[in-house]
Amino acid sequence: MNFHQLYIDGAWVPAGGTADLPVTDSFSEAVFAHYRAASPADVDAAVRAAQRAFDGWSATPLAQRIDAVRRVAGALQERSGAIGAVISREVGMPAKLAARIQVAAPIAAWTMYADLAADVEWLRRVGHSLVQQLPVGVVGCITPWNYPLHQITGKVAPALLAGCTVVLKPSELAPSSAFLLAEAIDQAGLPPGVFNLVHGTGPEVGEALVRHPGIDMVSFTGSTAAGRRIAAQAGSDVKRVSLELGGKSAALLLPGADLAAAVKATLAGCFLNAGQTCSATTRLLVPRADMPAVTELLRTGLAAWRMGDPADAATRLGPLISKAQQRKVLSLIEAAVAEGAEALTPQAAPPPTGFFVPPTVLLGVTPGMAIAREEVFGPVLAVIGYDGVDEAVAIANGTDYGLAGSVWAATARQALAVARRLRTGQLDINGAPFNPAAPFGGFKRSGLGRENGRYGIEEFIEPMAIQLPADYFDAPEEYHA
Ligand code: NAD
Repeated sequence: MNFHQLYIDGAWVPAGGTADLPVTDSFSEAVFAHYRAASPADVDAAVRAAQRAFDGWSATPLAQRIDAVRRVAGALQERSGAIGAVISREVGMPAKLAARIQVAAPIAAWTMYADLAADVEWLRRVGHSLVQQLPVGVVGCITPWNYPLHQITGKVAPALLAGCTVVLKPSELAPSSAFLLAEAIDQAGLPPGVFNLVHGTGPEVGEALVRHPGIDMVSFTGSTAAGRRIAAQAGSDVKRVSLELGGKSAALLLPGADLAAAVKATLAGCFLNAGQTCSATTRLLVPRADMPAVTELLRTGLAAWRMGDPADAATRLGPLISKAQQRKVLSLIEAAVAEGAEALTPQAAPPPTGFFVPPTVLLGVTPGMAIAREEVFGPVLAVIGYDGVDEAVAIANGTDYGLAGSVWAATARQALAVARRLRTGQLDINGAPFNPAAPFGGFKRSGLGRENGRYGIEEFIEPMAIQLPADYFDAPEEYHA
């Protein structure tokens, strides 16, 4: 597969950059595709196309924008097999799971956003003012590799519904679904310039997009380090910014919780996508009295996490995205063991190829250790003992992050009392499942703003207040979003 084109102003055009960026199969370790990077002139052309398209798209009635988004969902559905296959190769997620989480869920999200667009309060009267919600303008979307289509969807679908136009720069490590999305958008017949795709690395193409004066807002998902740079640049230009960054989420077991259910769900939350999930429950906080029982459950639970070829239906844990990520995770495990943690792993060796890290549970972790504070982004669970609930809450809140978490207790009511003390944007109680219509985003260094549901659309609008003389309200004109 050689992709030397970009999607700009409603057409596929040759990429003008010099770099051919390789994409690697994370199981075979072989390069299977090259994508050519955009030049600075390509980035400029994409932003200008989005600027030209803005007046027309923002004035398009909401009902037509909703129809367009539904057509994109249909065109994506036609490509669902291809999207699933390529994401599973790039990211290494087991194919069966990828078909559900990496493909079906984001396609359903395009439809969900379309369904929820009418719930936004596009217009309201406040005294003698009409407050109308308007699109923020041209949005630069920059996305990571771990759930590539999901993260793109969380930005592009709501931005388009809000009436914004978009320039997307996907991750250079897993770009293929973005190219398939551009094909789907082309097929759906969106006006030229409403959606544009550029490709390249963060420091080159990503930063050029962030700095471009034609960009009104940057919507970024990725590491906290890149998020800081982007926020600083956007801040100096007074551009709007939304940031979905890293996490170090805690699963907090309270005395009396169903230990077996909590351990099973925490391992699943931690090891999903080989731990490469921003909201992964990577810390398990356990009452000291329950530690022996929990340790036993973890030991047995680990055995279910069979490493293997992502194409094999029996595989639960695939490889990591890259050699660099594998090295980073292995060295964090080594450092934790050097600091006194005990590592539990299943006995089976990983396959001979693939960037594997065996599923690992670290016992005896203390809150001060690096493994208890830093985002690992690999299949590693840090188990921390505590004596009282106040201590547990302090440990759970004691990192720079605040993205997600879970609380387990004998009753949901008991869990809720503790949940309210946790500084985190998402929280699941007693195994309640993910809700794509609820707001998703971070407290503290986990980010700014929210994605998903109606809240995701509201990230891309801003209010305009229009004061009117009293006689207007005697016979108001029709006024639509
Ligand atoms: P990354 O920050 O390295 O890259 C993310 C994207 O930003 C890529 O497209 C990259 O090319 C680009 N980029 C990198 N540096 C840039 C810069 N200086 N200017 C502009 N663009 C730049 O992150 P990653 O390794 O792709 O993804 C893993 C990280 O993403 C983890 O920290 C994870 O927690 C985070 N993440 C967060 C969420 C969330 O919703 N909070 C979701 C998924 C991933």
